[in-house]
Amino acid sequence: MAKSEQMITELSDKGVRYCLASYVDMHGVSKSKMVPIAHASDMMTGSEMFTGAALDGVPQEVNDEEVAAHPDAASCIVLPWQTDVAWFASDLWCGGAPFDACSRNILKRQVAAAAEAGFTMNLGIEAEFFVLSDTQAGGFAPLSDLPHLEKPAYDTTRLMDNLPWLTELVDAMNALGWDVYSFDHEDGIGQFEIDFTYADALTMADRFTFLRFMANTIARKHGAFASFMPKPMGDRTGSGAHFNMSLAGPDGTNLFKDPDDPRGCKLSTLGYQFTAGVLRHLPAIMATVAPTVNSYKRLVKQGSMSGFTWAPIYACYGNNNRTNALRVPLAGGRVELRAADSATNPYLGAAMVLAAGLEGIAEGLDPGDPNTDNMYLLDQAELDARGIRTLPRTLDEALDAFAADPLSRRVFGDAMFESWLGFKRQEWLSYLNHVSDWEVQRYLKFF
Ligand code: GLU
Ligand code: MG
Repeated sequence: MAKSEQMITELSDKGVRYCLASYVDMHGVSKSKMVPIAHASDMMTGSEMFTGAALDGVPQEVNDEEVAAHPDAASCIVLPWQTDVAWFASDLWCGGAPFDACSRNILKRQVAAAAEAGFTMNLGIEAEFFVLSDTQAGGFAPLSDLPHLEKPAYDTTRLMDNLPWLTELVDAMNALGWDVYSFDHEDGIGQFEIDFTYADALTMADRFTFLRFMANTIARKHGAFASFMPKPMGDRTGSGAHFNMSLAGPDGTNLFKDPDDPRGCKLSTLGYQFTAGVLRHLPAIMATVAPTVNSYKRLVKQGSMSGFTWAPIYACYGNNNRTNALRVPLAGGRVELRAADSATNPYLGAAMVLAAGLEGIAEGLDPGDPNTDNMYLLDQAELDARGIRTLPRTLDEALDAFAADPLSRRVFGDAMFESWLGFKRQEWLSYLNHVSDWEVQRYLKFF
């Protein structure tokens, strides 16, 4: 208590006048209440109450006790673009105890299970997203007015054209100590990737949540918006949010590193076991790391574009090979889940992969040898011979896999499992019942 009083005094001395008690709904969208700094000590002990029934995936009845946000002091961020406001990631509580169906609590339960086994999960999320502006015609366009390239990946001129907002965002990330080490123009029109140093899974989930909010705010200052829609353009690559995962021991040593790995991936036995656990549950995990109708339009080999998408289509793992759902990058010591996309609720996604990985370790699973071929080019007979399954092709298939896998209910808890699945089934139905432009164009005057 004294510690949080001291923190509030320090914030106030720095000019902070308001605090945001923030948490996410089931989609990973930020929700909050704002509290003047004079009341911040009440906020830290849970004064901010919310009617769960007003939100997606906070399973509550209208007459239930409200959920209360319990801010995590360690997550405090003074908004780089508005320094009189401080943001806090919060856990939801209800009835004086952590609320079971809160995304952050769901991840914390798996973090605790990992800690009990002696592990800390480290996570780096590669942030890909589009920055676009609305056009008068009701569409959207990139900020650079240069012609659209067939292959804009790593394009220098378009990167430079976007520097005003990009450097403002990167400066802000670095001011927060996130250590951005690289950013570029990606393969979509107005698509960018920003890479920053990994952290423990909970911290990274907080940061990714905040990043979506911050990227959007800064883009809007520049007359644009940041889109974390996984596949805004059918003929271009989509936005992944690759999860780079490893486990550390109590002294911080990376337990996934093994330079003498006989399989040549520089991955330890523990890393292979974790990988095997994730592979076992990948169809169910997909529902959380690729959680939208649109997500599954990203998970194609090529579609109508000129090159590959670099997004996975099969549930398999490989060495430095980017065509696998799970990749062990050249340096080894970590596993990259390439199936995850920019719309993930990072708390739920990380909770599912961590639980699956821990199961792989507990059961000593082995994923077999890594796939070294270009998986996009293998024929069905070869895939069958290797026992490789296709990833879910639609949100509907992913939800079926999620519903059928006992891991999902165990990780989510009964209330969130039912609520989340109910909302997602509705989302799929709403999509299914929608008549798209594609259909009208194709069938309206077909006969
Ligand atoms: N944009 C690709 C995806 O959807 C990833 C490209 C990359 O490897 O950076 O996953
Ligand atoms: Mg990329």
